[in-house]
Amino acid sequence: MATHSSTATDTRTYTCPMHPEVRQIGPGNCPKCGMALEPVEAEQPKEKVEYVCPMHAQIVRDRPGNCPICGMALEPRTVTAGEEGSPELADMTRRFWISAALTIPLVALSMAEYIPGRPLDRLISRQVLVWIQLILSTPVIVWGGWPFFTRAWVSVIVWIVPSPL
Ligand SMILES: [Zn+2]
Ligand SMILES: [Zn+2]
Repeated sequence: MATHSSTATDTRTYTCPMHPEVRQIGPGNCPKCGMALEPVEAEQPKEKVEYVCPMHAQIVRDRPGNCPICGMALEPRTVTAGEEGSPELADMTRRFWISAALTIPLVALSMAEYIPGRPLDRLISRQVLVWIQLILSTPVIVWGGWPFFTRAWVSVIVWIVPSPL
């Protein structure tokens, strides 16, 4: 049997290359020009189907199957491309790591003050040290903490200004 099993289960949307308004489920010919309809592929990659266990959210597979923990059939879940990485989370993660990268030398510098004999003082003058700490800490506080400042400011406003009842 050379029958393609895909044609029987083809539930993709087909459209005419000449008439984009023509849409139908499954292959066929355009009712306006008779051309063979083509599957609408361009819209598909935006959506991704994942298979998840209804009981175990951590079980995510890219194909159907059974949960390795409880053996339940995995349920399909459509993930749109935009949902995959929340931009706010990505921004916060970037802020966190850059802030952390700036904070580590800052902590190291302040720890150095507790080393007996203060070896750092012989390398850098205290004046320079203060400047280094200021330069390192300012972006962390202003930029790294900016989302927190804006939120704190909003909550202060809400707190001071009595809400009209
Ligand atoms: Zn057509
Ligand atoms: Zn499970």
